[in-house]
Amino acid sequence: NSQLNGSYNFENYIEGDCNRLARSAGYAVATKPGTTSFNPLMVYGGVGLGKTHLVHAIGNHIKSTWPEKFVLYVSSEKFVNQFIESLKTNTVQDFANFYLLVDILIIDDVQFLSGKEKTQEMFFHIFNHLHQSGKQIVMTSDCAPPKLKGLEERLLSRFKWGLTADLQSPDFETRMAIIQKKMQADGIDIPNNVIEYLAYSVDTNVRELEGVLISLIAQSSLNRKEIDLELAKNALKHIIEDVETEVNLDFIQKTVAEYFDVTLDSLKAKTRKKEIVTARQVAMYFAKEFTSHSLKSIGYHFGGRDHSTVIHSVQTVSDLIDTDKKFKASIQELQKKFKVKTG
Ligand code: ADP
Ligand code: MG
Repeated sequence: NSQLNGSYNFENYIEGDCNRLARSAGYAVATKPGTTSFNPLMVYGGVGLGKTHLVHAIGNHIKSTWPEKFVLYVSSEKFVNQFIESLKTNTVQDFANFYLLVDILIIDDVQFLSGKEKTQEMFFHIFNHLHQSGKQIVMTSDCAPPKLKGLEERLLSRFKWGLTADLQSPDFETRMAIIQKKMQADGIDIPNNVIEYLAYSVDTNVRELEGVLISLIAQSSLNRKEIDLELAKNALKHIIEDVETEVNLDFIQKTVAEYFDVTLDSLKAKTRKKEIVTARQVAMYFAKEFTSHSLKSIGYHFGGRDHSTVIHSVQTVSDLIDTDKKFKASIQELQKKFKVKTG
């Protein structure tokens, strides 16, 4: 039993700038295990960015091409627990022998081996043996190998023998593609404006994005309602906990509009009236300062403006703060409202 999850494959692993190197190295390993210079292949990146998916895809691909190969996926946690168990039952040799039989060893989240010296020693032994016999080793970790604290130097130096590739947070277009693909796979209709809205709003990681989609699908069937923007906004509220704790864009827009005595809508409208333009620029400035929204996302929430417009606004406001004392004072006054909120 390879412990592979068959639903993770390359087909449904969307490619983007964020994962291009890791994905193509993974594919190379999957088509030529043990014979590329990517041995070991080490994929690292933050939570929910697709490490586990990618390594299962590698394993599944190998398994479908060479059914006779012994492909094994194991989480580092399980590896540690099995090892400890073998110590307790005096079966360490069996434990080692089992791993020495593996053709492709996929070991997930190696940061978990940190500080576990005996397990590391065992892993070192297995690693050397497999590597020498031309067997492929694939690993993941939550940070770059040099930053893996509590891992032995000799192990870390082995990791450098092959290729280390990172996964970044997906960009907007990749998030759109991921949403489209997931909904398609589930046979669910989702309007384009909802896809856009979600891709703009959830820019942390893919797992969170999936959480929102699941909640959205649930609400849609619960309320017997087609998926639309309103439903999507609701789903977001349920999933993203920090929406309340972070100063959110709506709050900034409302507060700034009130302060400048303009309507909320005008901030998002096309109008170029001077007082509205100023209020809009100030609101964008605070959005940049106090939220984690990207420039693109900020522009989107201000009537679909370009990210360069946001850059220009932020710059204009910064310049005014430097040159206009009265303006600076009003910015400081406004700023208090947001600082209190961030706690
Ligand atoms: P990690 O192991 O890095 O924490 P996972 O591999 O568990 O992340 O990914 C989290 C979820 O996001 C999984 O359901 C996975 O299928 C999905 N996912 C991540 N990256 C992609 C991608 N590029 N294309 C499609 N789905 C992805
Ligand atoms: Mg994982």
